[in-house]
Amino acid sequence: MKKQNLVILGSTGSIGTSTLSVIEHNPEKYRAFALAGGRNADLMVEQCVKFQPEFAALDDENAAKNLRQKLTALGCKTQVLSGQKAVCELAAHPEADQIMAAIVGAAGLLPTLSAVQAGKRVLLANKESLVTCGRIFIDAVKKHGAQLLPVDSEHNAIFQSLPPKAQQKIGFCPLSELGVSKIVLTGSGGPFRYTDLSEFDGITPEQAVAHPNWSMGKKISVDSATMMNKGLEYIEARWLFNAGADEMEVIIHPQSIIHSMVRYIDGSVIAQMGNPDMRTPIAETMAYPNRIVSGVAPLDFYQLNGLTFLQPDFNRYPNLKLAMDAFAAGQYATTAMNAANEIAVDAFLHRRIKFTDIAKVNAKAVEAMPPQRISCVEDVLEVDCRARELAKSLL
Ligand code: NAD
Ligand code: MG
Repeated sequence: MKKQNLVILGSTGSIGTSTLSVIEHNPEKYRAFALAGGRNADLMVEQCVKFQPEFAALDDENAAKNLRQKLTALGCKTQVLSGQKAVCELAAHPEADQIMAAIVGAAGLLPTLSAVQAGKRVLLANKESLVTCGRIFIDAVKKHGAQLLPVDSEHNAIFQSLPPKAQQKIGFCPLSELGVSKIVLTGSGGPFRYTDLSEFDGITPEQAVAHPNWSMGKKISVDSATMMNKGLEYIEARWLFNAGADEMEVIIHPQSIIHSMVRYIDGSVIAQMGNPDMRTPIAETMAYPNRIVSGVAPLDFYQLNGLTFLQPDFNRYPNLKLAMDAFAAGQYATTAMNAANEIAVDAFLHRRIKFTDIAKVNAKAVEAMPPQRISCVEDVLEVDCRARELAKSLL
């Protein structure tokens, strides 16, 4: 088979570096064709020297200039580009076979959409794309014949647990026709699942970012502690799997060994398990429908201390309920919630608000946002911007 050319959007981040690690395990099958990131020129220099991509792009002009100088001095032939337009062009490059969409936040929307519009095979990590622009994205996937493969570990687990007919119709799976009764989204419940509610006001950023099972960035770790991450994933799952509210179930599974499940009408439950390491879902999307090694250690059943399950309590996790209600209200609400949450989490990390204020700011921002129709990414970006201002005024 011809080597697959990968474009990695967000190559300097956590998902990006894990993707490069999977390429390193499979050099005869994959090539890092283009790398893109925000402003981390030093890490991009290292990645270019090691992987010799055709192109490297940084959003920040000065960082790109710095990168160009350093690569020239090192004799590296990688062509350096800068700015969002260049990142979007790389996402749609005719020689690219697969696009890893792993830019964090709203900055990932246009590049990811650019890959979809070019009809690419898109490995989707950027959850904000679906949280804010679900309808627009799914419609664009159909219109342009793109292939969407979910990287988020829960969605990847659900994807793997669905029948091939559903896998080939991501965004449009007729779940009930395929005998699926429920999509079961699992989440660890974060570090405070057993903490007394009376202690929640005093939770510090250090306590909140210490995730028991996964090693991730600060923002997503706080989202795991408030279960906003599960809320965002609930929205993501509804779009990806075309699931109605009554086809969804959220379960707390503290050990993070089962990464999510699918229930069928005959009583079968199919689950995907593994060690909590993002290289597994990344490798699965890169190789689908085949399999490749990822570098992840095999799951050792004898080291597991039992698998347990709890029902989520909305008093403990108000953000989860907020996200479910926001989906029902529409894309203006999910966009506003996501934007407010970014502001609130940042304020919490900087000790400007309490842990329990995060959900309050989010709820107030959604409530204050006037309902409106969202028909293009520009509408989304406008609501996103307004919600950020609103949330800041609520701090
Ligand atoms: P990260 O913060 O570690 O990395 C983000 C990447 O985006 C970096 O390479 C950064 O340079 C780049 N970036 C930021 N702004 C940019 C811009 N304007 N233009 C171009 N590039 C820009 O984030 P991450 O943890 O790797 O997460 C990436 C995405 O994947 C997020 O949407 C996240 O929700 C999702 N995700 C992450 C995980 C995980 O385990 N880390 C799991 C599931 C989903
Ligand atoms: Mg996840």
